[in-house]
Amino acid sequence: MIAPLAYTKPRSLAEALELLQIAHSLPLAGGTDLLVELKKSNKRPALLVDLKGIPDLDELALTADRGLRIGANVTMNRLIESGELVSAFPALTDAAMTVGTDQIRNRATVGGNLCHASPSADLAPPLFVLDTQLVVASLQGERRIPISALWQGAKQNTLQPGELIVQIEVPWPGAAAKMAFLKKMRTAGHDLALVNMAGLLDPVQGRCRICIGGCACTPVLLPGTDTLYQESRDPDQLTARLLALAEATIVPIDDVRASARYRREIVAVFLQRLLKLLAVETKGWGRC
Ligand SMILES: Cc1cc2nc3c(=O)[nH]c(=O)nc-3n(C[C@H](O)[C@H](O)[C@H](O)COP(=O)(O)OP(=O)(O)OC[C@H]3O[C@@H](n4cnc5c(N)ncnc54)[C@H](O)[C@@H]3O)c2cc1C
Repeated sequence: MIAPLAYTKPRSLAEALELLQIAHSLPLAGGTDLLVELKKSNKRPALLVDLKGIPDLDELALTADRGLRIGANVTMNRLIESGELVSAFPALTDAAMTVGTDQIRNRATVGGNLCHASPSADLAPPLFVLDTQLVVASLQGERRIPISALWQGAKQNTLQPGELIVQIEVPWPGAAAKMAFLKKMRTAGHDLALVNMAGLLDPVQGRCRICIGGCACTPVLLPGTDTLYQESRDPDQLTARLLALAEATIVPIDDVRASARYRREIVAVFLQRLLKLLAVETKGWGRC
């Protein structure tokens, strides 16, 4: 027989951080990953600390000076429902729109999507290309980490026991920057990605960022792409160099969703499609 779950719902961040000092306690947000995991296993945390009663984690603000600030408890549907966000960060809201069903998007939080550390978490690629920082809180205080430092491996994050993500900070991309997000699933509308990908192209600042999910044990931000873009903006040459880089960087596996070979094929198709989308958005490849 499986032991019942011990559950509590603190009303402040300070109270939650105190409760998370209890050995083997776990934070619970929307529960769309955690409760599924607990159902599948015999593992029982000493205490589930429900974060949804903490108003500090609900902030969603877009300001000229500080960019976008997303409280860890903000749900996918809150991201999508903000018209301002849809026009300012379209790759992020497009990614949120593809998560599960409407019911899942009503529960699923941004903090939970990142902390579950799935290689195919849909919010990861857009947040990676946007140079996102995470604010991590514990009883010892706050620290900031780049989003890439959160993933240790598939479904393993680098947070220490007692630590919480409280805020996701997304700087404004340059005014000329364009973004796009693509996702390949087995079924329409309701599945984890077998490959997802986000790109950012800024012809003024000479920035080109590509992040690929589902093709390694962590999302992969292709290295050195700004330099490739600055060296050559010839579309054919840049596309060929990025394809070779992606091919050499990803390490996809065979699993229930797809074979490694199929994932490689999708990456090649998506990368070309993504670059075309970004080039159309930026009205060409930008001049050197
Ligand atoms: C039917 C279904 C379809 C889905 N489809 C998709 C999909 O298309 N794309 C996709 O990316 N995901 C999908 N998911 C997975 C899931 O919905 C998302 O990853 C979701 O964003 C997780 O958020 P949550 O609030 O439910 O997290 P929870 O399940 O509450 O928590 C997830 C993990 O993060 C930890 N955690 C939560 N909040 C914090 C915090 N603030 N600080 C530290 N740790 C924290 C928890 O302890 C747990 O380990 C799907 C899930 C289901 C059940």
